Amino acid sequence: QRFADYGLSEEIIRALGGLGYEQPTEVQHKVIPLALQNKDLTVKSRTGSGKTAAFGIPVCELVQWEENKPQALILTPTRELAVQVNEDITNIGRFKRIKATALYGKESFAKQTAQLKQKTHVIVGTPGRVMDHIDRGTLEMDRIEYLVIDEADEMLNMGFIEQVEKIVGKLPKNRMTMLFSATLPKDVEKLCHKIMRNPVDIEV
Ligand code: AMP
Repeated sequence: QRFADYGLSEEIIRALGGLGYEQPTEVQHKVIPLALQNKDLTVKSRTGSGKTAAFGIPVCELVQWEENKPQALILTPTRELAVQVNEDITNIGRFKRIKATALYGKESFAKQTAQLKQKTHVIVGTPGRVMDHIDRGTLEMDRIEYLVIDEADEMLNMGFIEQVEKIVGKLPKNRMTMLFSATLPKDVEKLCHKIMRNPVDIEV
């Protein structure tokens, strides 16, 4: 399999080449074609499988550079993961000039708010800080078309599931949702049921 077979734009293919990604991993091969068709997906996969690019590639492909408000929201359980995902999205979207902004706790609101005033295509953040920005009116969600919940089982372990649901409740109904998790405990399955429409289940 080759990335070029998915109909990705030249800018994305070029970025993948620059990252040294020659071939899609298994999770990427299963996720990318369906995500590009806007299917809701529940993906059971581990860290190390290439899961970040599995959602990062379609998100970077699907967002439109011209739109000024955020179009994709990626929720992560930890600040470290938010930083990592933000970096991966920036790298994948480099030649399309995709701007990603990371929002997490223990960093000043002022700095993040200044970043949010600039054009941002993709928001990567932890639930608490994302909710705070929504409440303060510094993060606009009315143009979000793509939602990714990363490491959903960790969200559950850390007690973030209710907050995730609250955030999802603020998003447009007409959107695509992808949820990634190493395991699928009952409460994660319940969340999938609540926030997705006929999701395709993928296991790697
Ligand atoms: P992840 O599972 O997202 O944490 O990714 C694990 C590692 O695999 C990261 O260092 C990625 O940069 C790398 N990676 C992801 N996709 C590919 C690919 N298609 N080819 C080679 N390396 C990759």
